[in-house]
Order: sequence, then C-alpha cells, then structure tokens
Amino acid sequence: MAETLIEWADRVWNFLRGCSMVSEGCRHCYAMIMAHRFSGPGQAYEGLTELGPKGPRWNGKIRVVEEKIPEPLQVRKPQRWFVNSMSDLFHEDVPFEVIDRAFAVMALTPRHTYQILTKRPWRMREYCSLDWRNQLVAQHTQTMRMVPWPLPNVWLGVSVENQDALSRVDALKDTPAAVRFISIEPLLEDLGALILDGIHWVIVGGESGRGARLMDPKWARSIRDQCVRQNVNFFFKQWGAWVPVYADPPDEPATHELRTIDGAPVMLKVGKHQAGRLIDGREWNEYPEVVA
Ligand code: SF4
Repeated sequence: MAETLIEWADRVWNFLRGCSMVSEGCRHCYAMIMAHRFSGPGQAYEGLTELGPKGPRWNGKIRVVEEKIPEPLQVRKPQRWFVNSMSDLFHEDVPFEVIDRAFAVMALTPRHTYQILTKRPWRMREYCSLDWRNQLVAQHTQTMRMVPWPLPNVWLGVSVENQDALSRVDALKDTPAAVRFISIEPLLEDLGALILDGIHWVIVGGESGRGARLMDPKWARSIRDQCVRQNVNFFFKQWGAWVPVYADPPDEPATHELRTIDGAPVMLKVGKHQAGRLIDGREWNEYPEVVA
C-alpha cells in the first residue's frame, strides 16, 4: 500500500488506473507520464496509455483494481488518504456502482480522512446530490448502520488551473460535502477575484517537470491574500520548476534558464526541490480545522 509524496496526505488509495485529458491543467499530467513508464506487457498500466507526437497520453480507458478497493479497511492507524492519484474518481467511465463501493469503505472507516480531487465536478455533484445515495452506499457496507450524508470524513475538491476552470468551483459549492477544497495547481494565470464562500481550503502550486510553465508570484500572492481576507485556510505547496529571484542572485545564474515577466528578470528555472515552498519568506501550511 503506497505512501505518498503529496505534501498534504499520508497515503494514496489507487483502485483506479487510467484517465483522459480534459483541460490545460492535464497537459503535463504526472500520472500519465508515470503510467506510460509502467505500460509494458504485464505491467500495471498496460493498455492505458499511448505514445503521441507530444509524448505519452492516456488513451481514455479506465481499469478498476478490485483488490485495492478494501485497502483502507486494513489500516488501523488514522490516515489522510488521497483517493486515486492515477485517475479521476468521477471520470465519465467509472460506474456509480464502483463509486458506491468506495464510499462504503469510507463510511466503514471514520478513523480515516479521505481527500477526493476531480476535474469533473459536475459528475461528482450528480453523484453526491442523489437523495438516497447514502442508502445505495449502505447496501455495500454489509452492516445495518445508517450512512450519514455527506460523509464527515470525506473532503471533496476540484482542480483549477486558469479562469476557464473556475466554473468547477461553482459546481463544487453546489455539492454536499463536509469539507470543500480547491487545488490550484498548476496555477497558469491570474484567477482574478475569487468568491470563496463554502470553501474550506485552498492549495496553490506551480508546475514542475519537463516543459513546466511558470507561475507569476503575483498570481499566487493574490490568491493567498484573498484566502486571508475571506478566512479560508491556505496551503502553498510549491513554486514548481520556476522560482522568483529576489535580492540574492543565485551563485551560477548562467546555468539556469531565466525568464522575464513584464520586462523584469524575475523567474529562474531551478527545479522544484531547489525552488522550495516559501512565499514572501514563509511557509503556508494551513489545513481545514477538522484535522488540526
Ligand atoms: S484529470 Fe487528472 S489524472 Fe486525468 S489527465 Fe487530467 S490531470 Fe491527469
């Protein structure tokens, strides 16, 4: 069972494999690139990716890994689980019956917290809004227990990368959930004014890896300041590959790619580890209060 490098989760629960790209935020999908590395004959992602002119791509097929669905039942220690880092739970080809079985596991393990992130919040809203959804989920728990709805240990989130994707936030606000969060990663443009009522947590991060696009510090600061003003927990995950250059110039700037914004040399490509996660000299590690 996998531990995770995701800063805000303890473990990943990957009972789905495969996806299809939906928007700009998917362009350098880490899961897609990783999956392609393990897509040879007999490997875990065989038949789920293809090699296009721009590199590896998901081919749209989804595989349910049945034996992984009960995984959290076997873990006694309370954990924060990121649900499906190698797919999207609300992908159009994941049957609601499979999602019911996953929610049954979540209902049976209130000791754990589950973080579900999607780029398909309209399907998530449809799923979660059904009046008798808890009864359908309860059928899979094989107990006589009532399933509360929304489940108090399940956090629902949407990924947002640019202004076009902001409509996902509206769908999330409309979805019954104990905790609602927005993962703004990779942040690709200024998002402008945000109305964050009903949102408990915002995560911001820049892009890393090959071909990473830069995140203007102004865009990240604007979101941070709006979260502070609107009393929403803020988590700054990482700069990504590009870091802003402040007073101290790097030792060997010639070895790094430099990019300017509005004519000023401000961003240096150093890789995500060196770029770190300080914004204006501090880390932002806020979480929704339920796990504080
Ligand atoms: S929705 Fe998520 S997993 Fe699917 S292609 Fe986009 S970034 Fe990758």
